[in-house]
Amino acid sequence: MIPGMAPGDGNEMLAALPPREREALWRNGACVTLVPDEVLGRPGERIRQATFPLDGLIALMAEVDGHEALAVDLVGSEGMLGAPLVLGAHTSPLRARVQIGGRALCVGTAAFVRVLAEAPVLERSLRRYLAGRLAQVARTAACASFHVVEARLACWMLMAHDRAHGDRVHLTHERIARLLGVRRSGVSTAAGVLQGRHLIDYTRGHILILDRAGLERAACSCYRHGDVALAPAAHAPPPAAANEPARPRLLRVVPHRH
Ligand SMILES: [Zn+2]
Repeated sequence: MIPGMAPGDGNEMLAALPPREREALWRNGACVTLVPDEVLGRPGERIRQATFPLDGLIALMAEVDGHEALAVDLVGSEGMLGAPLVLGAHTSPLRARVQIGGRALCVGTAAFVRVLAEAPVLERSLRRYLAGRLAQVARTAACASFHVVEARLACWMLMAHDRAHGDRVHLTHERIARLLGVRRSGVSTAAGVLQGRHLIDYTRGHILILDRAGLERAACSCYRHGDVALAPAAHAPPPAAANEPARPRLLRVVPHRH
């Protein structure tokens, strides 16, 4: 753990866990630096670790013909990279690329699966999170076909803002173009429109959100409907769960064997 930091500092999913589960993750993991452009996972490869960003931003990129085509989801301080592990899946179909640098708690897959087997709150939280991410991926596919670049850009800026810390989001036009799967010139035009409406200020890769409410109005409906996992209840236990007797678990994750 970082000296002077509380165990859950920085990551909402970790912060919502009971101390016993949170401490088990920290005991079995390490704090690492997320470097912009670093690839943390590739399609078809084994998931090497569970990554809880404390800050920074990771994009999950869909590939077409071996090239990154579109970001279908983002992982920041609200969640975890490697969530399919909770279903017993040990590979991901997506490329995970760091977009904004930061720090993360990393727990190797074998250790994570061991901790998960004794961490019912983490398991429940991850299942809810994963359900939200599946909805988001489906929404992104529809968004790319039906919504204009300006509204999509506003939507992704809001999603990045929700996951980043502070009003400043460090993303270049080039990087945003790759996230949206559009040409850089299209991003420049759309960003110019949002800037002209005084919703954002954009200088050398630094986006400053000036009018959050206005940006929400400019965003496509996907922002309001798609980002399910960011709802405050996403990491909370279901009502009355504390008083219920332990129920049999529907799925038990066991260590992967070669
Ligand atoms: Zn949309």
